[in-house]
Amino acid sequence: MRELELPRSLLPADGRFGSGPSRVRAEQVQALAAGATTILGTSHRQAPVKHVVGRVREGLGDLFSLPEGYEVVLGNGGSTAFWDIAALCLVQRRSEHLVCGEFSQKFANEVAAAPHLQEPEVIRAEPGQLPEPVPRDDVDAYAWAQNETSTGVMAPVRRPGDAGNDQLVLIDATSAAGGVMFDPTQADAYYFAPQKAFASDGGLWLAVLSPAAIQRAERIATEGSHWIPSILSLTTALENSRKDQTLNTPAVATLVLMAEQIEWMNRQGGLAWADARTRETSGLLYAWADRREEITAFVTDPAARSQVVVTLDVAEHIDATAMTALLRSHGVVDIEPYRKLGRNQLRIATFPAVPPQDVQALIATLDHVLDAIG
Ligand SMILES: *Cc1c(COP(=O)(O)O)cnc(C)c1O
Repeated sequence: MRELELPRSLLPADGRFGSGPSRVRAEQVQALAAGATTILGTSHRQAPVKHVVGRVREGLGDLFSLPEGYEVVLGNGGSTAFWDIAALCLVQRRSEHLVCGEFSQKFANEVAAAPHLQEPEVIRAEPGQLPEPVPRDDVDAYAWAQNETSTGVMAPVRRPGDAGNDQLVLIDATSAAGGVMFDPTQADAYYFAPQKAFASDGGLWLAVLSPAAIQRAERIATEGSHWIPSILSLTTALENSRKDQTLNTPAVATLVLMAEQIEWMNRQGGLAWADARTRETSGLLYAWADRREEITAFVTDPAARSQVVVTLDVAEHIDATAMTALLRSHGVVDIEPYRKLGRNQLRIATFPAVPPQDVQALIATLDHVLDAIG
């Protein structure tokens, strides 16, 4: 397969299909360059950078149509840091976790290791399957990933049990936020990072907090029952975010790229537009898998198939690693499966920055490879 030459005319105009870091649009980079001497390299405590943080927070409020009382909070450390923030500042005693892959497992591990919390309730599903929450009285938080990026399983964002039970819903929306529709009233912390659907660099975490989540964080901070390092304090992050700042120095370039992407999405038609676009682009790939005998959607339940991270199993007699290496040598990159999943698979991100034409071209390229090796 390695010697195969792929015709240039077939290849996508942009070959970046990674699930995070993900493709950054050229227009975002141009906007960054335009601010090269006025924003980059200037103080994050002064108006120009604070204005960019404000654009991100307001832009997200518009994109998600946030109800009164919901706030956008941000800080350094990526979604991985938010797991520890949630373990320290949002879970009171015990949480329930739905685990169906690497990312949902990691949050459950953090909570299990936290000395001030009880052993979490963990509901597990095989990779590629979707676990269901079970309402319980003895938990004060439910946690799951809206999109499990390691397997391409997508979950509904819906409160289990009775609302008003003082149980928080903590949604890891790292790879779903901005690409998939959701109802903000169904979550209390909807957290994510900029390097997936928001087409920016990594390093920040962002969270949409409900009034109940803010109250919980304030109560836990006031009780002072355990040590909360300031870099992991949600109430400190909240105070800073309200001033369009972060506790410590953020990557200014990431904020600029993100503000540009959010405003681009809002101009295109907001979250409804982004959701329709990712349905279309992922739909092209799932339809292709139906057509090709050698390709099977990894997620068997169509309702649980991700519209932003498409995982496709490749028939045993074809070496998917050789396929992804061949495409990589032609500039089509990051369609390898999640490392630890260890499957003969392709994983293709269809975030809003990826246009349908590029997905069509990718499919034509993959068809060419499969036909050639016959
Ligand atoms: C990428 C990802 C993370 C980790 O994000 P970082 O910003 O690298 O910490 C967590 N959860 C999910 C679902 C992800 O896709």
